[in-house]
Amino acid sequence: MTSAQGSIFIVVAPSGAGKTSLVAALLQAEPGVELSVSYTTRAPREGEVDGKNYHFVDRAAFEAMIAAGDFLEYAEVYGNYYGTSARWLRDRLAAGHDILLEIDWQGARQVRKVFGEAVAVFILPPSLPVLEARLRGRATDSEEVIQRRLSEARMEIDQVAEYDYLIVNDDFDQARLDLISVIRSQRLQAARQLQRHADAIAGMQTPR
Ligand code: 5GP
Repeated sequence: MTSAQGSIFIVVAPSGAGKTSLVAALLQAEPGVELSVSYTTRAPREGEVDGKNYHFVDRAAFEAMIAAGDFLEYAEVYGNYYGTSARWLRDRLAAGHDILLEIDWQGARQVRKVFGEAVAVFILPPSLPVLEARLRGRATDSEEVIQRRLSEARMEIDQVAEYDYLIVNDDFDQARLDLISVIRSQRLQAARQLQRHADAIAGMQTPR
């Protein structure tokens, strides 16, 4: 019997909506979901580990990967390239793993062109003033960067109707449960469960 192809989950959010924390909480609750580690030309932030948070590469290496067709999708975000390895993703899916892509809206569109069945989730802040307060609370960005992120957030929020699920991150714990529910319901679909528990289910059915 061939095993079922895994599912792709795409999580998109404006900067400051709390995506990274929500995804980390989800991965802890659902260890069966694997996070795709992207390639980027951005410099590592303090504490980030090559091969874990990202594969950190220089621009020449990234452009060589583009030319070689190595990316399922890639985009330029805030002046740096980010991309998802096509081969890694296809291999993991073929082996039946469920994969989560934490990518930007441009990448989400490209992935959905190739994998129309990918489940796309958008995380919203409760309001623009709350988003602005969160961006200021980080105290790492200049006023110019904050204003740019706010106008980009509006542009991203203009597109929310393209997504399968919208989660409002007002109360973190509620948003965490919402995200877990979305992923769990997809993973519990009959076709997937029949593959995962084939022998146990067959053992409970009327012998043929
Ligand atoms: P950061 O530099 O803060 O880690 O990420 C900046 C933005 O790039 C985030 O919106 C993040 O989701 C997005 N991003 C990370 N990896 C990828 C990727 O492989 N492809 C695309 N299109 N966007 C990505």
